[in-house]
Amino acid sequence: MSTYPTDAACAWSPDKTLWDANVHGETPFQREVRHIQAKAICATCPVGFECAQAIDWTWDEGIRAGTLLPEKKTAARTARARRAMSVSQ
Ligand code: SF4
Repeated sequence: MSTYPTDAACAWSPDKTLWDANVHGETPFQREVRHIQAKAICATCPVGFECAQAIDWTWDEGIRAGTLLPEKKTAARTARARRAMSVSQ
């Protein structure tokens, strides 16, 4: 039986930057290729379901459970910033 996060495929990968949202200096094409590689590994991960359940949609970023999260994070940050601005005015 597989256990999250001990048996996570990303935990055993030699290149953990595959799951990062952005890597300094990479081109958009390189980023897309890297994310495709990460998503392919996620698709075979033995704890993908547990990973999806553990996602913190507010703080996690990069590829999680085969999904790119920064759009969610950006949306959450924007919502927080708008709330903070409306409170301070
Ligand atoms: S599904 Fe992807 S991000 Fe989640 S634990 Fe597995 S390899 Fe890591």
